[in-house]
Amino acid sequence: MAENIKLEIVTPEKAVVSEEAQIVMAPGTLGEFGVLSGHTPFMTSLKIGAVRYVDKEGRERFVFVSGGFAEALPDRVTILAESAERRRDIDVGRAKAAMQRAEDRLRKEKDENIDFTRARAALARATYRIRLAEMPRI
Ligand code: ATP
Repeated sequence: MAENIKLEIVTPEKAVVSEEAQIVMAPGTLGEFGVLSGHTPFMTSLKIGAVRYVDKEGRERFVFVSGGFAEALPDRVTILAESAERRRDIDVGRAKAAMQRAEDRLRKEKDENIDFTRARAALARATYRIRLAEMPRI
């Protein structure tokens, strides 16, 4: 049987995941990639999305990441994310409130005090969190 890899997902605030995985899939800026044990080393930046992995018991797990970097080595994947939380920890009410705030800001088209890039990024995080939390579980 193929060996597991060690998956670490950390943010400036906390360690979100530190466990063995059979396979890790992550949202690279150039496209989603998968890592199995023995993978050639590489580094990439990440976009907003979900890191998916199969844990050592064979369960599929999802972790929201808001961008950052991933380093793959033959026996481990390390993800440094700006923010991240497991799917089960996503607070949908909070994400809906963040979405509303971002949409309200983006509607004020001519207001010079609004940082539209920041509001668009907040909207993208909130939208993805809601989508991931509400995704049917199989
Ligand atoms: P908010 O405006 O609600 O803070 P945000 O997109 O600005 O949303 P982030 O900067 O991405 O938040 O994350 C800040 C911290 O809060 C991180 O630790 C992140 O995991 C957590 N977090 C943010 N939104 C949620 C959520 N909806 N459910 C659970 N944790 C969240």
